[in-house]
Amino acid sequence: MMTEQEQALLAENIARVRERVAEAAIRAGRRPEEVALLAATKMNSAERVRFAVEHGISVCGENRVQELLEKYEQSAYGGADLQFIGTLQTNKVKYLIGKVSLIQSVGSLRLAQAIDREAGKRQIRQDVLLEVNIGKEAAKSGFSLEELGESLDKIAGFGNLSVKGLMAIPPVTPPDGNNLYYFHEMQELFIDISTKKYDNVCMACLSMGMTNDFEDAIACGSTMVRVGSAIFGARDYARQPSKNSL
Ligand SMILES: *Cc1c(COP(=O)(O)O)cnc(C)c1O
Repeated sequence: MMTEQEQALLAENIARVRERVAEAAIRAGRRPEEVALLAATKMNSAERVRFAVEHGISVCGENRVQELLEKYEQSAYGGADLQFIGTLQTNKVKYLIGKVSLIQSVGSLRLAQAIDREAGKRQIRQDVLLEVNIGKEAAKSGFSLEELGESLDKIAGFGNLSVKGLMAIPPVTPPDGNNLYYFHEMQELFIDISTKKYDNVCMACLSMGMTNDFEDAIACGSTMVRVGSAIFGARDYARQPSKNSL
């Protein structure tokens, strides 16, 4: 059970992050409503997530399928929009279809195909973002800048999937000490694809910016920031909530 103190802190953090998002938007000459706030809820209990949703969080993002399913069963997200933002194996796609409004982390043609197939079985259209490996990091998934255009041509033809934009997770320790360079590159790419007008592709969402850099991301046109620790506090990786195999 959350203590009263924990509840007060969480409510305060949500209000503060909202304020910072709005201020960053205004500094960038944008309207606060142009930037959505997704709460990255990984490693937070259903109770904490539910409390956040009751206190102004309208979009939740999970990283792991098993963790999402567990909290889903515990009605953690009631009333909020649920999205998937983590690494996704093709054999787990089926668990997400029908539960999440958006899969943000589509970083390969193979994964896009699997989503298209599973969504087809359920006769729904799944919205996705294409993840771009903007820092060219070997350990990270995502399309390279070079392959994105060609992959988009193919994915645009899929019948049960709609591309709604792009997502990026820039390097944790960028060469210049900040991610402005990568955010600018993403903004250019986003605008570039928008002007090409693919059928079935709508560049509505540019998902970038996390606790340490969301204000810079907003300055570079981000339409959705994904914030975890500034809302929920630092994650304790020694206490994994679920070591399940899924
Ligand atoms: C955890 C996570 C975030 C939020 O990270 P913080 O630095 O805690 O804000 C954002 N996006 C993804 C994909 C994540 O896994």
